[in-house]
Amino acid sequence: MLLCLCPVCRDQFAGIPGTYLKRVDKEQNVKETCTYCGIRKGYDYRVLRRKVRKEKQE
Ligand SMILES: [Zn+2]
Repeated sequence: MLLCLCPVCRDQFAGIPGTYLKRVDKEQNVKETCTYCGIRKGYDYRVLRRKVRKEKQE
C-alpha cells in the first residue's frame, strides 16, 4: 500500500501495531497532499505490515 502522508497522519500509522512505514523515495523533497487527511502535505510512504500474532485486531 502506497500513501502520501503528512507528519500527523504518519504518526498515526506509526502507532498501529504491526504496521510500519518506509519512505518510498528518500530524495523526494516535493511535498504532496496527504492521501489520508487530504489537508496537509507530506511525502510518499509505503505501508508495510510486520507479522504479528493475530489476537484481538482483525
Ligand atoms: Zn494527513
